Amino acid sequence: MTVRTVLRFVTHRIKRHPESEATASAHCLHGGCDWEARPNTDVNKVDDQCMEHTGRLRDHTTFARRFEDVALVERLEGSA
Ligand SMILES: [Zn+2]
Repeated sequence: MTVRTVLRFVTHRIKRHPESEATASAHCLHGGCDWEARPNTDVNKVDDQCMEHTGRLRDHTTFARRFEDVALVERLEGSA
């Protein structure tokens, strides 16, 4: 039995969803510490929280920062 596959190339684009905002967050990587910054759309406010955390615990100097948004994929006009 022969199986045929028809491939159609459809052009898409991906962008931030217009009703969403990028959100920054961070958590401390110091062993055993479970501190996390409050997520914010302004990365500077997340950075301020990290620096305040280091101000209280001077050896907690490394943080994992995340930037998250909602993406929307659109099929471009004229695509099959
Ligand atoms: Zn910490």
